[in-house]
Amino acid sequence: VLTVDGVWKNYHGHHVLRGIDLEVDTHEVVCLIGASGSGKSTLLRCVNLLETVDDGAILLDGKEITDPGVDVDDVRKRMGIVFQAFNLFPHMSVLDNITLAPRQVHKVARGEAEEQARELLGRFGLAEKAGAYPDQLSGGQQQRVAIIRALAMQPRLMLLDEVTSALDPALVTEVLGIIRELKQSGMTMILTTHEMGFCRDIADTVCFLDGGVLLERGTPEQIFSDPQHPRTRDFLRSVI
Ligand code: ATP
Ligand code: MG
Repeated sequence: VLTVDGVWKNYHGHHVLRGIDLEVDTHEVVCLIGASGSGKSTLLRCVNLLETVDDGAILLDGKEITDPGVDVDDVRKRMGIVFQAFNLFPHMSVLDNITLAPRQVHKVARGEAEEQARELLGRFGLAEKAGAYPDQLSGGQQQRVAIIRALAMQPRLMLLDEVTSALDPALVTEVLGIIRELKQSGMTMILTTHEMGFCRDIADTVCFLDGGVLLERGTPEQIFSDPQHPRTRDFLRSVI
């Protein structure tokens, strides 16, 4: 689905990504781990074209999306991105939050968009919240709605950046549940997390970023039980 080929990114002369290579296959779940500031969010932002890359290329379904002539909106339609802080529109009901983009971007009729939204809400245990406003929901429920909203666009790929880190521990479980279900349904995902247990549980491939370098990658088994690089070992020791 996605190829990241030698991507470099600088901010004010500071190299944040240093030649990142990454392949993501259909149905694969890739988990990015690494210390704060190692470049995880920047990499997701580059993939979603929220940032331009300074060197290298990113391909989605074989087409270069970092090409200057590319239709950015068209690329973004094919990717769902969810951040740490919930980005729901506070003045809109849950149903309107979810149906806005399908209606405006995909020109789906209101009735059809709402039917699809209710189906997704039902699937993720939020059927009775369709008419609620974001401030009437718990943090975990808001984050689930944010994920559903991204899903309503039927993306090829979901990018999830620390989607549980703003939540109370008690609410984390329900958001992790939705991600687990997404994996079961075959969604291709790249996610970042500081929750190593969850990463181990859900990832097909774990990538360790260190100072903008993808230093080591492997199965969760390889990375957590037998890390090869001393930096990976140090990092894991510091977080587990
Ligand atoms: P965390 O685990 O804390 O979320 P991260 O791995 O996601 O960290 P990034 O947010 O990608 O790290 O940041 C990588 C580096 O890039 C950091 O040093 C950060 O200060 C810098 N950086 C990120 N965004 C910008 C920006 N818009 N302008 C300047 N520097 C930035
Ligand atoms: Mg980050």
